[in-house]
Amino acid sequence: MDIAREKLSLRPGDALIVVDVQNDFLPGGTLAVPDGDAVVPVLNRYAAAFAAGQFPIYATRDWHPTNHCSFKARGGPWPPHCVANSNGAAFAPGLKLPAQTVVISKATTADKDAYSGFEGTDLDARLRAQGVKRVFVGGLATDYCVLNTVRDARKLGYDVLLLTDAIRAVNLKPEDGQRAKDEMRRLGAKPFSLTLLAA
Ligand SMILES: [Zn+2]
Repeated sequence: MDIAREKLSLRPGDALIVVDVQNDFLPGGTLAVPDGDAVVPVLNRYAAAFAAGQFPIYATRDWHPTNHCSFKARGGPWPPHCVANSNGAAFAPGLKLPAQTVVISKATTADKDAYSGFEGTDLDARLRAQGVKRVFVGGLATDYCVLNTVRDARKLGYDVLLLTDAIRAVNLKPEDGQRAKDEMRRLGAKPFSLTLLAA
C-alpha cells in the first residue's frame, strides 16, 4: 500500500471520487456500460492507496425512485435503473470500498435527474470541510456521470485528475467517450493512470 501511495504521490488535500460503479451499469445490468466491470479492479487499487494514506474517498451512486423522470415510462432517455435499495443500485460486488468511504446518493427524487455527483448533494461542502483541493475521478460512465462530475469539479475550482484507466463510456455514438475525454482535458482535467506510472 505504501508503495502505491508513494507512486501516486498523494498529498494533503487529495480525495478519490468513485462515480456510480453500480450493478445496473455493469454487464448484465439494465443500463450496462460496455466493459464497465473493467473499472472495478483498477478502482480497488486506487481506493487501497487512498485508504492507506487516510485520504478521503467518496463513492457516488444513482439512487432513483421507481417513477424517476429519466426512465422511459416518464419520457426520459433511459430504461429503469438504480432504483433505490434494489440490487441494481448496489455497488459492484467486487468493488472494495474502504470503511471510511462516504457514499453520496444523487437524483433521489422523482422529478430531478443528476449526472454530476455535485448536483443536489453535499459533496462540495464535504470536500471543502475536509480541505480537499484535488480530486481523482474514475467510474461510470465517461460520457455522462464522470463527465458531469468533472465539469462541476472544475467549475468549483478543484484540480482534477481523470483516471483514464478506470473509466468506460456508454458510447451511444461511438465517439462519445473520446469527446467527453477531450472536453474534460480542455476544462483542465489532467489524464492519469497507473499504467502511466509503470511506464
Ligand atoms: Zn440515473
